Amino acid sequence: MTVGLTLLLAACAGLSRAASAGSFSASSVEESSPRVEYIEDKAAELKDAVANPTSDAQQLHALAQRLFERIPEKTSSDIPAVSLRGWEKPERRSEGNVDGLMQKMREGLEIHEVPAPAQTQMIDAYLYGDAMRRDRLMRYDEDDKLTPAQIGAYEYTEDSAVAILYNKAMRIIQRFLGDEFAASTAVHESAHTRDHYQGKLNPIEVKKGEKLAFETEYWWLKIVDPSGEKLCWARATLGKFGAGRLKAPDYVGDYLEHLASIRDYGDKGDLASLVDKLGYQDRKVNPFH
Ligand SMILES: [Zn+2]
Repeated sequence: MTVGLTLLLAACAGLSRAASAGSFSASSVEESSPRVEYIEDKAAELKDAVANPTSDAQQLHALAQRLFERIPEKTSSDIPAVSLRGWEKPERRSEGNVDGLMQKMREGLEIHEVPAPAQTQMIDAYLYGDAMRRDRLMRYDEDDKLTPAQIGAYEYTEDSAVAILYNKAMRIIQRFLGDEFAASTAVHESAHTRDHYQGKLNPIEVKKGEKLAFETEYWWLKIVDPSGEKLCWARATLGKFGAGRLKAPDYVGDYLEHLASIRDYGDKGDLASLVDKLGYQDRKVNPFH
């Protein structure tokens, strides 16, 4: 009897305060944005002119026009181009295989600063995940065991690890996003393996197990992208907010929104709510007994 712990993806597609205009535009408006500077300058000019008793109506009209011609109507379908110059971008290189995910995880932990509470958790997750890879227990789901909503799964018996599986669509995610963001799922599934061997994973308390894995995944996102700019860039360029030639298939966009939710709930210290929102349920009966 094996039990699968799956990483649900589709359930989160509609989520995310993180995807709402509020938190998104907060990061997309940069101080250096020429568009914002332009609007601020023109607004200041208009204010001065209104306060000046010598300005005539024609001058005010001209100034007002200059301000408003650059601001799209609320109902307009035009989306102003946001300048993404200077944003940190994700490392989009991919090895196109599961080795690349673990290699990237290792590099990430070597190159970046890993905050103290996460250090042991992250390194242990890497060691257990990499042991799975070396034992050839980490692979793409060539037998289509996973549904499209399942991006990854950790399969186990009561006392041994069976497999870490990645949805075949993971290859597309790797190709479009690179191994750095794709490794988030490897981190999650490796964390399950770690927790299983450390006695913190059981088939009854599914939600507790997921919360631990999402915590580790959250740390990964913060380690490789402390400011969140890489994720914002990816969502605005490759993901659901992208409109140009770099826009990736919807599945990739959903994955990015999923990562944004993890960051968002993690920042609030409330990953338990994310686990609930994604629909994970505890079991009433232990399938091993
Ligand atoms: Zn999981």
